[in-house]
Amino acid sequence: MRLVLLGPPGAGKGTQAKRLSQKFGVPHLSAGDILREAVSKGTSLGKKAEPYISRGELVPDSIVLEMIEEKIKQSKNGFILDGFPRNLSQARELDLYLQREKKELNAAVNIDVSENIIVERLKNRLICSECGAILSLKDVTGEGICPKCKAKLKRRTDDNEDTIRKRIEVYFKHTFPLLDYYREKGILINISGEGSPDEVFNRIINSL
Ligand code: AMP
Repeated sequence: MRLVLLGPPGAGKGTQAKRLSQKFGVPHLSAGDILREAVSKGTSLGKKAEPYISRGELVPDSIVLEMIEEKIKQSKNGFILDGFPRNLSQARELDLYLQREKKELNAAVNIDVSENIIVERLKNRLICSECGAILSLKDVTGEGICPKCKAKLKRRTDDNEDTIRKRIEVYFKHTFPLLDYYREKGILINISGEGSPDEVFNRIINSL
């Protein structure tokens, strides 16, 4: 299975990608996670990427492609791509790679949510430092401990209101045009991202 997940920040791409990865037995490749890992390790690409991430802007293609291409190449049996591609030139690069490998995307799944919900979700988002579970402040009681693995929950530094607004603006300018790109290829699936993670997951599975 080769899927691309599209949708604004906070649509639930990460949550759904984790579930789809388990269901289909293929890796979840999150461009954001790969970049954040490079930043926290202090690699040279991570150092270059960090200022863009903290401003809510797209990291230059050359940096992102170098990092993600390697992971895609390792995922011979398929992947769930989350946060990549994020603009037309990244989408074209992915297509060129797939053509060379004589492989195709099964679908590009667009998870659609309204702007109010996005901001609300991101302002309340907590991430487990250990298992990567994505939770909401509203569902966590007391100490900020992951209910699954008991590790500490943390907030993403770019989940503040100004950066959230910038990320939404960047989404509409650079990523939204990908919907037409995949629609023209006949592989776009649109689903509503509102409701519980289970409801959204079932919608995706039923539409594939
Ligand atoms: P995400 O975890 O998907 O919300 O991404 C967090 C941040 O990482 C974004 O706001 C961008 O700064 C950067 N980023 C993630 N994926 C990409 C990409 N495909 N191209 C450029 N920048 C990216």
